[in-house]
Amino acid sequence: MVQLNKALPTTGEWECMECGYIEEGSESRRPLKCPECSAPASALEFFSYEDEGEEWDRTEDENELDDDYEDEEDEFDDYDEDAEEDDR
Ligand SMILES: [Zn+2]
Repeated sequence: MVQLNKALPTTGEWECMECGYIEEGSESRRPLKCPECSAPASALEFFSYEDEGEEWDRTEDENELDDDYEDEEDEFDDYDEDAEEDDR
């Protein structure tokens, strides 16, 4: 489902938070500065045309999954140590 993003760069628009200037482009090609008011690149925000808002939900889900996985790993670590001691 995310495969399209690999073939095609995410298209959208860069919006200048200083003056509201909007430039079409792709997420990987951040303008060096705003051509309108010369604000630095950090003042430019990228807005994707495709999944408006959906990307944020996906990121939150991934974070929750990561937390659960780390907890399980800790439990497994403890178990391994105990087992090795019993063997010796
Ligand atoms: Zn600007």
